[in-house]
Amino acid sequence: MSEHKHEHDPVDASQGWCCDGRTWAEHASEGGECCQPKGTDLAHLPAEAQQKAKERLSEASA
Ligand SMILES: [Zn+2]
Repeated sequence: MSEHKHEHDPVDASQGWCCDGRTWAEHASEGGECCQPKGTDLAHLPAEAQQKAKERLSEASA
């Protein structure tokens, strides 16, 4: 059983963030591992990624 739901993906930032604005978990689930260390804080991302991440968060909570 596999459902493909892409409309309102929950943002799981419990494991940190990727440098491209995705969550660590998202990149890890796609490539097996994220390019960032686990638990990377939002504040440690490049400005562009921080902005993306914040957009993701506000969309998810909308
Ligand atoms: Zn990554």
